[in-house]
Amino acid sequence: MTILKFLEEYPTEVSCRSDFRMKREQEGIICKKCKSKDHYFLNSKEQWQCKKCRFRTTLRSGSMMENSNLPVRTWYLAMAFMSFSKKGLSAHELQRQLEHNRYATV
Ligand SMILES: [Zn+2]
Repeated sequence: MTILKFLEEYPTEVSCRSDFRMKREQEGIICKKCKSKDHYFLNSKEQWQCKKCRFRTTLRSGSMMENSNLPVRTWYLAMAFMSFSKKGLSAHELQRQLEHNRYATV
């Protein structure tokens, strides 16, 4: 992945969210309540709803983004930055690049 490729593939927050949704569906959504794998996706709420018990799973639930308010694209960008650099990027450098104050979040 290069920076240009990243910008082409993920130009907007929406593109990142739909990509994240697709990846999660490939992994499989498992209902926390009844362990069913059959879900509908509620587009307006960005949640999966269990076909059996109607329990809802949010887009970020169960992922490392679960307790974060950062845009999905910021996470994608952070992960992409880590892959750009062979040595890896320090959390400080990442914070600087993202112009982000909440070091702990990163
Ligand atoms: Zn269920």
